[in-house]
Amino acid sequence: MIRESHSIVPPDPQLDKVQRLGLFALGIGLAMLFGSLFKFFSPQLTESLFWVMLLLVMAGGLVYGLRTHLKRPAGIQNNNITRSSISARGALGWTVGIIITTFYVVYYWWPEHIEGMVRFFDPLSQLIRSKPADQWFTYGAFYTIGVLVMGTKAIVKYRHSRYQIIRTCSIILSQLFLAFLIPYWMEAFNKPYFAPNYFWPLEYKVMMPDKFENLKEAGTVGQFIFGWAVVMILLVTPILTYFYGKRWYCSWVCGCGGLANTAGDSWRQLSDKSLKAWNFERISIYTVLVFVIVMTVAVWVTTAFHLIPETSAQLRKVYGFLVGSVMAGVVGTGFYPILGTRTWCRFGCPMAAVLGIIQRFKSRFRITTNGAQCISCGNCSKYCEMGIDVRWYAQRGQDIARASCVGCGMCSAVCPRGVLNLENGPVDQREEYTFDLLEDFKSRHKEKGVQAASAGKPKAKG
Ligand code: SF4
Ligand code: SF4
Repeated sequence: MIRESHSIVPPDPQLDKVQRLGLFALGIGLAMLFGSLFKFFSPQLTESLFWVMLLLVMAGGLVYGLRTHLKRPAGIQNNNITRSSISARGALGWTVGIIITTFYVVYYWWPEHIEGMVRFFDPLSQLIRSKPADQWFTYGAFYTIGVLVMGTKAIVKYRHSRYQIIRTCSIILSQLFLAFLIPYWMEAFNKPYFAPNYFWPLEYKVMMPDKFENLKEAGTVGQFIFGWAVVMILLVTPILTYFYGKRWYCSWVCGCGGLANTAGDSWRQLSDKSLKAWNFERISIYTVLVFVIVMTVAVWVTTAFHLIPETSAQLRKVYGFLVGSVMAGVVGTGFYPILGTRTWCRFGCPMAAVLGIIQRFKSRFRITTNGAQCISCGNCSKYCEMGIDVRWYAQRGQDIARASCVGCGMCSAVCPRGVLNLENGPVDQREEYTFDLLEDFKSRHKEKGVQAASAGKPKAKG
């Protein structure tokens, strides 16, 4: 008998009736959403159609996602993930990437083209904050719906892991309340916008002089918001990172990580694991951190001393455009199906940079490895969304205390041998591999020099 494939993984199973029903409902809901772009619906119908759309998208997504994972036994099965067009940079993956990227570009720079969709979200905006929707509200609603639906799917997919269940519940609740409802409820009560889970340097606007003036005018609430931002970055962040590593923020609280670990879960394996990417990561993320520090100081100094305000305003604009819109939005999220899901967290987020420095040098967190049990299957490296070659450490029995590790726990969850454990312990008892970037650069440079010199030598004859 001739076998079609040598793979031990069964081929894609046929969708059953329930899955098809879920996909059908989701498709109709998305078609309605698309229709709203072109203002297809009369104003009288808009409100009821919006609720129908919301129901179809959420119910359809949930029915499909839950059915897909519940009909399999508990435990991670990423069958066909490297063969499926959507998760392996195939035509479908590229199509989804182009659609999301286009959405981000239009949404940031040509919002007038999505006015119909923004108006479609008026009923939800009226319900939450008693005023019509705008582009930011619509985006926040999309984001939150994505995290809710795909987060529920992730809970079912990873139901065998208590850590993943609790962590996913935390990111869903954080997105729903801290990043979406609380800020808009504040607005409904004529208070300043306040998202408790975002603070400087990620949410740099909170620390800008104009925001400071607004908060001063808002009285006690304003003082509380400013105090919260200061306490969170100067006190809470170092303390929690010392005890738990950057995971308390990147994998439990932050909305960027929340979207990556829910809606982006199917693309986490696409992260680049090469040494080149690691070197680039260290240069780019700390460049952004320096950029945000310089920009913040410049804006404050120029405002306080009335010096060259245009230059600092320009600097702020450039930062907002390059980092806030291009890196975090267009590339960070739009390129999920191409570059993997944590591109922004890994290469650009200044908050991740601060947390990473503390985690690397002063944190009790580490991933311990029982090297003797490792069979070098590579699952851990493959599913690390931060591009860490986890297997390299596991094979040597070394602890992993990398600045970029977000403590998502997936390497541990996919390991068939139980080699990896997320643990806390004394800082000076980590078994570590140290890597000196400068030394590495020097030795490579030297190697290249030697190669070039020997290439230029005349060849011996005879
Ligand atoms: S090393 Fe493990 S816990 Fe850390 S980011 Fe990678 S998969 Fe997540
Ligand atoms: S998943 Fe586990 S067994 Fe496989 S390479 Fe990683 S540590 Fe080793």
